[in-house]
Amino acid sequence: MIGLNGLVKTFGHHRVLKGIDLTVADGEVVVIVGPSGSGKTTLLRCVNCLEKPDEGSIAIGGFTVDCRYARKRDIHELRRKTAMVFQQYNLFKHKTALENVMEGLLIVKKMPKVEARARSAALLEKVGLADKLDAYPSRLSGGQQQRVGIARALAMEPEVILFDEPTSALDPELVGEVLAVIRSLAREGITMMIVTHEMGFAREVASRVVFMDDGAIVEEGAPAALFARPQQERTRQFLRRLH
Ligand code: ADP
Repeated sequence: MIGLNGLVKTFGHHRVLKGIDLTVADGEVVVIVGPSGSGKTTLLRCVNCLEKPDEGSIAIGGFTVDCRYARKRDIHELRRKTAMVFQQYNLFKHKTALENVMEGLLIVKKMPKVEARARSAALLEKVGLADKLDAYPSRLSGGQQQRVGIARALAMEPEVILFDEPTSALDPELVGEVLAVIRSLAREGITMMIVTHEMGFAREVASRVVFMDDGAIVEEGAPAALFARPQQERTRQFLRRLH
């Protein structure tokens, strides 16, 4: 279970997060939507302290950090409990798919190499890349690279996987294969927070949709209800503009 409490983040004079409260239960898939610049990515990056919030606290799996006093050790602990899947994949270019997944197991989890290799191969198989273990990122399509990114996140066995617009860098014909993998993780009960512009996907996979605007959560709810009967004018405007 994750609890975000009063998260505030300011860049210069710009208050990008204005006090975010959000709870995510185990196994929930929370999809964050909203206009560009509303703070969605910043919120996600705050959850694992890629951005350090100015105020507020983050609780993950019984571990709570007051962001104002977070020490390096706290930040490491938060990072261990979370894994991020980035828009631009962020794979090591000079490592194979297998080595990319193994990296965290060897360095962070200090797993023996034989075990790390077997586990990484199994995860790559799970995301449909059994035949690409030895391929370098430059030889993989964007969709395949993103699936390596997902396998790498899974390898760390985090409490939650954070997806930052995982399909927005992909050619349209490659979006489906990545969404299919995320969908299967949702069915397995893996806790996820996902920032996406794919409303159809949000509707299908989310246990809860959170609509953000201007650094605040305006409205949240089950996808069917939120998309069919938004309660707030700002949500209605946002959804109208998509049609
Ligand atoms: P979204 O994901 O909803 O598009 P972001 O969280 O990326 O929104 O950005 C929210 C606001 O914060 C934007 O105005 C953006 O320009 C600003 N911002 C994000 N990251 C930084 C940064 N590192 N430095 C300064 N401003 C930033």
